[in-house]
This record gives sequence, structure tokens and C-alpha cells, in this order.
Amino acid sequence: MKIIIIGAGPGGYETAVLAAKRGVETVLIEAGPVGGTCLNEGCIPTKSFCKNAEFVDQLQESEIYGVGKLDFKLDFTKVAERKNAVVEQLRSGVESLLKNKLITLVRGRAFFKDEHTVSVIPNEDASMTQDYTADYIIVATGSVSATLPIPGSDLPGILTSKELLDIDHIPDRLCVIGGGVIGLEFASIFRSFGSEVTVIEYCKDILPRFDTDLAKRLKQSLTKRGIEINTQSQVLSIARNDMEYEVSFSRKGKEEKVHADKVLMAVGRRAALGSLNFSDIGVGTSSKGVMVNEFMQTNIPHIYAVGDINGQMMLAHAATFQGIVALDHIMGIPNEIDLNVMPAAVFTAPEAASVGMTEDECKEKGIPVKCLKSFFRANGKAQTMGETDGFCKIVVAAPSKDGEEGQYPEGKILGCHLYGPHASDIIQEACALITCKASIKDFEKIIHTHPTLTEVLQSALHA
Ligand SMILES: Cc1cc2nc3c(=O)[nH]c(=O)nc-3n(C[C@H](O)[C@H](O)[C@H](O)COP(=O)(O)OP(=O)(O)OC[C@H]3O[C@@H](n4cnc5c(N)ncnc54)[C@H](O)[C@@H]3O)c2cc1C
Repeated sequence: MKIIIIGAGPGGYETAVLAAKRGVETVLIEAGPVGGTCLNEGCIPTKSFCKNAEFVDQLQESEIYGVGKLDFKLDFTKVAERKNAVVEQLRSGVESLLKNKLITLVRGRAFFKDEHTVSVIPNEDASMTQDYTADYIIVATGSVSATLPIPGSDLPGILTSKELLDIDHIPDRLCVIGGGVIGLEFASIFRSFGSEVTVIEYCKDILPRFDTDLAKRLKQSLTKRGIEINTQSQVLSIARNDMEYEVSFSRKGKEEKVHADKVLMAVGRRAALGSLNFSDIGVGTSSKGVMVNEFMQTNIPHIYAVGDINGQMMLAHAATFQGIVALDHIMGIPNEIDLNVMPAAVFTAPEAASVGMTEDECKEKGIPVKCLKSFFRANGKAQTMGETDGFCKIVVAAPSKDGEEGQYPEGKILGCHLYGPHASDIIQEACALITCKASIKDFEKIIHTHPTLTEVLQSALHA
């Protein structure tokens, strides 16, 4: 059996490595650097910035820790150099993983010639085009930043996340259009770096797909840190004079303006359907991305699509696990991975994280639930760390009002939503519990080390 994988991001390269481990010959085609968006312009470089931001925040609190007030100036060149070094280190790690006799890494832009043939143009030189065929083809070509169709959105200097990561200085004033995960992470980072930050979000709350309690409280927390957040605000246009950008938005029928030195457009990402010729070969697509079934298979049975390209869950770990599901299906290996139990984290300060169903989602579906809540201010470890802002909410199945057992057995853990220090790590325990279909009774038996932040989950049980 031979497989072609297009795209070497976390969906593509991890699947190629697993396929090779299982003895399958794989051709992996990549137009840019290996590692994809995640490693080169997404998860990793942003988290390197997050670490610098956290460090700066701690230095600001030096007096609390008894070392007196520190006089320091952030050298942004060093921040950027550190980020680039981390990315390069990890990229060389991926390159060595791919040095496997069963993996042929082909550099160039791929497109479908027909449903069995993928053509690759190396270095954008069409005269060098090479054709490849295989029994199965997995498309993992990711996504690109979306933009708003408003006057001024194409002005030079309106930045996407990729461009903001490559900026060479800290802007005095940063306007972030979009209060989703990516927008808020940058807002939080640049606030710590000293920028005046304004966020403009169209929806009622920030983080539209997260638990509403969590979104509201996190908004308060970020506002307390000096980030101005405007929700229910529609950006109308962007104008520029020599000195600055002027972003106009309407809120409750009133037009308002934000003046900024840099503008980040963080209004989501869209599947990179562009130049692969899907329509010519008949692969079904929608406005979200390539359409797939639960095995990540398209309407053409030997073609699969994993990761951002199918628009289902734009997360690196989702891409990787969808790749495993696709490969198992191709190889006829039974697979029990539940892609619905997908944790997600927001690396703001404080962090937020979520897994499973939200309270609102359960209400919409008519699932009776009760919510168990706890607060980081009552957590010993959080107090010692001086990071007490945050809460935790566990969504648990409850009997219906008439006492009947609902769709889920009483006590089953359906979701967990929290914000606070290390929320992105703590969520993993809830993820394990939900994956194992655990109930509150199972959870009660698990002993948590004291003093740790994970005790915030245990405290919710006793709330
Ligand atoms: C700023 C930012 C921060 C993020 N932070 C997080 C985070 O903290 N956690 C998280 O889980 N997710 C995060 N994400 C999302 C995450 O990066 C993506 O979900 C993930 O990279 C998707 O993986 P993928 O394999 O589907 O696609 P990608 O990683 O985008 O990889 C696709 C690859 O395909 C290649 N390609 C495209 N077209 C072709 C072609 N025609 N021929 C050959 N090669 C092609 C591209 O060059 C690319 O290397 C972040 C994204 C951004 C932008």
C-alpha cells in the first residue's frame, strides 16, 4: 500500500510518521517549511511570546517577591530571536523524524491532476512538475487567515497573526479585530509587552464558542489588566493617515473610533481550498472546507481530508487525531477515538480551557444538567503563586425535572470549563475523565496531590 499526504503540518507529518511506523510507504508533499501553521506561525511561536509576556508580568511584581522595584526595558529583538530559535529547534526535530526510508518528502506545491494523480510544482517552476500516484491520498493543507470585506481591510500594514509574529517592534497602540482565541492571545501578549490594546468583537461575548460564564469572567479579568474590550461591536472601516490607523465600529447604533499604530485582523481562519483543483476532480466542499464523514473520508473514497482543511475543529491536536482516524480507516484498523471530546485552550493571562459540552449547549439540546463550580481564590497553590483569578465549572448530567433519568446517566461528567493559572494543563484531567465516560462518583475516588492547582476540580465536587 502507498499513501500520498499533502501538507506537512500536525495533520500531515504526524500521519506520515505513524504510517511509516506501521510499514506503509508514504509520499509527503509540502510547499513550505515542515511543521505547518502550528509550528511556524501558530501554536509554537505564540507560546514562545506568551512565556516572555509571563516573565515580564512577573518582573512587574518584583516588589511583592521582596527584590524591590526593577527598572527594566524589554528588548524585543531578543524576544523575536528566542521565538525563532524555538521554532527552528522544533522544525529540525520534525525534519529528523521524517528521515525515514518509508517517507519520501517532496518539496513543492501540490494539486490534483486527476483523482489518482497529484502533481507537484517545485519552487513555483511549472517546467519541473512531477506526478505522483498512490492507493490513498490524505489532504492536510490547513487554513489561511480570513479578512473582513470592509473598506480599508487591504491597507498595507493591516496585519494577520503571521505578520504580527514577525513584527520587529512593540506597537504603542494595538487594535485587535476579533475577540476569538487568536485575537485574545495576541491582545494578552502585547498588553504584557506594554502596548495599549483595544479588542473589537462582533458577538455578544468574547470567545463565542466557549462557556458564557467563562467568557464573561475572562473578559473582566483581561479588562482588569488594562485591555479595552468592545463586544457587540461591528467594525465598519479602517482608514490610515501618515501617523496611525483609525478603526471605525458601530456599537448599539453609535459609531465609535479606535486609533492605533498597528491593527491585527483576527476574524477566524478558512480552509485553504484554493489551488488544489477539488472541484475539477469532484471532491465535495462547503463554505467550511472539504466535506468528510466520521472517518475523514471525502465523497471520493480513497481521498481523505484531515485538520483545518475540513473546517471541523481548527486545532493542532484535532488535525493529528483526525490523521490517526483516517489512517486507521485506510488500514482497516478499528478506532475508538472520540473526536467530540476535544480539549481547547486559550493562552491568555490567565489561561482558559474547555472540554466537552457547555451548559448552554446542554440547555439547547434539552439535556438536564447541574453545574459544579469552584474558584481559584480558594485554592492553596493558586494563593502561593499569587494567581487567584479564575474559576472552574464542571457540567454533570442530572435527572430531568420529573425525576426521570435523562439521555445520560445521572452524575456523568459532560463538560468542564475553566480559566485561571495553568488552565490548559488542568483541563487534561477533565478530558481523561470524559473520554473514560467517568461519573462524579468515579472522580470522587481520585486522590489529588496537595497543594496543586488540579485541586480546583476536586473543590468543584464539594461546592
Ligand atoms: C496564531 C495561531 C495560534 C494558534 N495556536 C494554537 C494553539 O495554541 N493550539 C492549537 O491546537 N492550535 C493552534 N492554532 C491552530 C493550529 O495551528 C492549526 O489548527 C493546525 O496547524 C492545523 O494543522 P493542519 O495540519 O491541518 O494544517 P497546517 O498546520 O496549516 O499545515 C498545512 C500545511 O500544508 C501545506 N500546504 C498547503 N497547501 C499546499 C499544497 N497545495 N501543496 C503542498 N503543501 C501545501 C502548508 O504549507 C502547511 O505547511 C493556532 C493557529 C494560529 C494561526
